[in-house]
Amino acid sequence: MENISTPPIITPNPSRVLLELVDVKKIYYPGEKNENMALKGISFAVNEGEFVALTGQSGSGKSSLLNILGLLDSPSSGSLRIHGQDVTSFTSGARADLRLKVVSFVFQFFNLINNLTALENIMIPLRLQGHTYKYAYDIGMKTLTSLDLAHSADVFARDLSGGEQQRVAIGRALCKDSAVILADEPTAHLDSVRSQEVMDLLLKINKEFGRTIILVTHERTQADQAGRCLVIKDGVIAEDIRRIPVVVGV
Ligand code: ADP
Ligand code: MG
Repeated sequence: MENISTPPIITPNPSRVLLELVDVKKIYYPGEKNENMALKGISFAVNEGEFVALTGQSGSGKSSLLNILGLLDSPSSGSLRIHGQDVTSFTSGARADLRLKVVSFVFQFFNLINNLTALENIMIPLRLQGHTYKYAYDIGMKTLTSLDLAHSADVFARDLSGGEQQRVAIGRALCKDSAVILADEPTAHLDSVRSQEVMDLLLKINKEFGRTIILVTHERTQADQAGRCLVIKDGVIAEDIRRIPVVVGV
């Protein structure tokens, strides 16, 4: 029987590469004869346990990059490796399976299902992963409790404040034992106090639950709290600022 007493804790190996992009280009074809090269040859690697902020102006390619890292979209050329395995040419079914296992998303507009409760929203990915109802219920409640959201368990998502919705969405990302959480401007619609609460939650999840985090943000104050900051400009990485030195090894 499945029996886990906390949201899943992952122990990262900081010398192990989790995600790697090699010369990734992304071309969109918005009109029949138009093409827009949103990513112009991006290469970088993210090790297990890193907290990476991805910043850059609107239109610079941040979401395109995150969607490729999260297996929601494919590069036009170049490759994505996960734990050293080139997954670029996986079939859509294999990509979906891998996405379910490895990645969790947190979106700008929270993306909860309004007419389900906070707890039911959290249970969905666990049920999709094949866990029993009881496991999903227990881990969902434990996750809400550990994030100080137990009082919201039976509240419909539509009745939660924006800040609470986003924290529930982060809880949903946390209770899957996926190695990486990708968050695309999760605080864009929150005031500065709620934004910092969301940031604190992401930092806690990185530190205490071992999740690797890639956070797209416009906020300088948030980028400054991350161990590493990648600045993207017109589809290329303009800067790679490390505050925590990389661990070199196997
Ligand atoms: P950011 O998230 O930094 O604002 P995006 O990755 O959304 O940047 O967009 C980068 C560029 O790609 C922009 O010029 C945008 O208009 C274009 N773009 C993004 N998604 C699409 C799409 N689905 N079809 C066509 N062009 C797109
Ligand atoms: Mg974007």
